[in-house]
Amino acid sequence: MRVLGGGVIGGSIAYHVARQGRRALVVERAEPAEEPAASWASAGGVRRQGRDPAEAALAREAIARWPTLAAELGADLGYRQGGQLLLAESDAEAEQVAAFVARQHTMGFVDVRLVDRAETHALALGLSERVVAGSYSPADGQADPRRTTRAFADAARRLGTTYWTGTECSDLLADGGRVVGARTTRGDVLAGEMVLAAGVWSDDLAAGVGLSLPLRTHALQMLLSTPTMPGLLRPVIGAVSRPLSLKQRDDGAFLLGGGWLGDVASDRRSYTLRETSQRGNWATARALLPALGTERMAGAWCGLEAISFDGMPFVGRAPGLEGLTLACGFSGHGFAIAPAVGRAVADLLAGRAAPELDGLSPARSAGFDAAAVAGFLNADARGDYLD
Ligand SMILES: Cc1cc2nc3c(=O)[nH]c(=O)nc-3n(C[C@H](O)[C@H](O)[C@H](O)COP(=O)(O)OP(=O)(O)OC[C@H]3O[C@@H](n4cnc5c(N)ncnc54)[C@H](O)[C@@H]3O)c2cc1C
Repeated sequence: MRVLGGGVIGGSIAYHVARQGRRALVVERAEPAEEPAASWASAGGVRRQGRDPAEAALAREAIARWPTLAAELGADLGYRQGGQLLLAESDAEAEQVAAFVARQHTMGFVDVRLVDRAETHALALGLSERVVAGSYSPADGQADPRRTTRAFADAARRLGTTYWTGTECSDLLADGGRVVGARTTRGDVLAGEMVLAAGVWSDDLAAGVGLSLPLRTHALQMLLSTPTMPGLLRPVIGAVSRPLSLKQRDDGAFLLGGGWLGDVASDRRSYTLRETSQRGNWATARALLPALGTERMAGAWCGLEAISFDGMPFVGRAPGLEGLTLACGFSGHGFAIAPAVGRAVADLLAGRAAPELDGLSPARSAGFDAAAVAGFLNADARGDYLD
């Protein structure tokens, strides 16, 4: 078994394969969680509310697993189950939130609840007076993506997995309709099963064996504030009508994101920050948490994130090719559900049923409208944030 890519997804798959007593080789161009990989840049939100029904089962499994994951992997993951709070700023938005809560219940997330103005402000002290209600998901939380990605790698290694870091895969090797290995800077490796978990770069490797993956690359921005007193903000904050994710880390610094964009370099190996996105992200967070105004911006970075045509990842057997399993296109979904994705993909590779992956099957791309896909791939993201 060879896994291409040592991000949080490739690492979780390798760990779960090893936990089943099988050996994997992970081929990683850099090190696990290194700039500009998504698992390096990620906001680390461990969120269940707001999921697509196709990933609800994975989200349920992952959220149940996160509280004990640090003990399982033997590492501090910076995990905190502080809940997630989606804010409404008007009566009309409060109605949207009520409908949102009802949808969460249909997915089985029955502890998600509509909270009124008083409870919302009690859950997150210092919110703007314009906040009138919220949807609160108490089981959600946050973790440190870099530590988590490296913890999966370390735990996989302890179970016998080999990591070839600093090793680039240039091509998948195919024989007829079967992928049989990969060409790497350490030489060719043959494998009965290859897993493609190379983040935004998965599309190039897939294209080499004739598989067209409708993925677009974005540089997603994060901002860090100067540290203040820890414990001021416990839940992760989102908003119905604003691009925002806001959380406070254990060191007291606030972490801001929510879909604000930088620019991807033409070779997709780096990015440049956008001044307008930084200002926009900061202003958006301050509008909802005015206390942030006394802090300054202490850091800014982007991570390269793969967004698929329908916004959902491709996880499962590659259509029309034996020997290749895909685990890519995770966009903002990937970090939180990584523990469950790794378990499910490992089961699939072992020949077991993994029905949680049915809605994410790469075969669904056969139903995509070709012209719409071409439009999606050629479209530039308009504005400073993802809609
Ligand atoms: C700014 C930002 C904020 C986010 N916030 C959240 C959040 O709050 N919650 C959440 O759930 N998700 C979030 N996400 C999404 C989540 O981080 C990603 O879905 C997840 O990290 C994807 O992991 P990955 O392993 O698929 O990709 P990556 O982390 O990009 O890993 C891919 C790996 O493959 C390696 N690789 C690529 N090509 C090759 C090659 N040819 N040969 C060898 N190795 C190769 C790369 O070096 C890299 O290490 C966020 C993402 C970003 C960018």
